[in-house]
Amino acid sequence: MRYNIALFSAFIVTSTTSNAFTSPKATFPLAFHSKAGSSVSTHDRSALAGMSEELDLPCEDECSIDSFPNLPPSVHPGVLSGQAMVDLLNHAKENGYAIPAVNCISSSSINSCLEAARRNDAPIIIQFSSGGSQFYAGKGLDNTNYAAAIAGAVSGAFHVRTLAEQYGVPVILHTDHCAKKLLPWIDGLLAASERYYEKHGEPLFSSHMIDLSEEPIEENIEICKDYLARMCKIGILLEMELGITGGEEDGVNNEDVALEDLYSKPEEIYQVYKELMPISPWFTVAAAFGNVHGVYSPGNVKLEPEILNRAQDYISEKLGSEAPADKKPVSFVFHGGSGSDISDIRKAIGYGVIKMNIDTDTQWSYWEGIKNFELKWHDYLQKQIGNPDGPDKPNKKYYDPRECLRAGEQSTVNRLEQCFADLNCQGILGLGEWKEAANVLGPRRGGIPV
Ligand SMILES: [Zn+2]
Repeated sequence: MRYNIALFSAFIVTSTTSNAFTSPKATFPLAFHSKAGSSVSTHDRSALAGMSEELDLPCEDECSIDSFPNLPPSVHPGVLSGQAMVDLLNHAKENGYAIPAVNCISSSSINSCLEAARRNDAPIIIQFSSGGSQFYAGKGLDNTNYAAAIAGAVSGAFHVRTLAEQYGVPVILHTDHCAKKLLPWIDGLLAASERYYEKHGEPLFSSHMIDLSEEPIEENIEICKDYLARMCKIGILLEMELGITGGEEDGVNNEDVALEDLYSKPEEIYQVYKELMPISPWFTVAAAFGNVHGVYSPGNVKLEPEILNRAQDYISEKLGSEAPADKKPVSFVFHGGSGSDISDIRKAIGYGVIKMNIDTDTQWSYWEGIKNFELKWHDYLQKQIGNPDGPDKPNKKYYDPRECLRAGEQSTVNRLEQCFADLNCQGILGLGEWKEAANVLGPRRGGIPV
């Protein structure tokens, strides 16, 4: 039975430590903390069980372990929230790696992420945009009041919760950009998490991003404060955005914004830190340092990760003796990771980036897998019967959608391997190698090796 720390959640002031998620001041709620010796009621016992146990699914090998050889004991297979999530993020910061955060739009793209995480022996962040959530529900479903986007994200969350344990990897379940007009979407998801928390002692989602970077900074911070207060009560972390990520993603076009808005100022980051910290240290900042969504011709993107370093120095100086020992008080998120230069990625990690988003490059890899599959088997994919092997030969095993989708998945797993390597995020769990499943497609089932 899994020890779920979030069940014992309570605000308890802890001593000063050097990471970003515990405050330098011990005067306000700091972290969820396990109460040793808490009695567990019958109701609570069901909440202690992992998803596999609750659904009576087989849970063997990695699925059944309580913790990983190389990670803090709170970090377990499956979706993390509360202190376990914070312990993992602190581990990333202390050990100089960042976790890939991949935008998913279907069970197939989620499975690619879980497979890639296990292959790289690493944690992963799975995230849904509002458009991706709506797609998960089906584009035919009416989305008035974001009903489809809310239901789609909840459905995706249950998929991730069920499968993450089976793959034996720790997952942070997150939602991506939420602009002001999309706040009802997050409200719906928070309501779902609050209900889930009542029953299971943990939230449905691990974290949410609220992106009010287009609003005046005062309004951005005020709204984030309200959400952080609501979220931290049930073990959810807030990612907020300062400055604007350029380019285009999920229907939001920032291709023509003023250049100066693409770079955050240390004073602004300090303002956020100062105002959010007294509510909870459970927040990250997506500060702008020239980030752009999408992949453009070389030379169009000028990343300046030093901005993050300057902000850490500035805030540490302001905090004086209360600054954390590593002088990196803020945990940063890197948006627009696709197409970025490895040296910029590594610098950003050194300056306190613990999460890097990737979307455009995995969109491409998924499509490229399908494209190459079609190129290879083109003559077998033009009609149901008849191919170069003979006019009566059936083509079912080629046009079965599993074949081309699996090709997209495998191509994405390969692209993600590069991402894990770029982020120093390999061999983190200590589980070692993982063998490819022998019972999925492949010759045994009459499928074709892609
Ligand atoms: Zn982004």
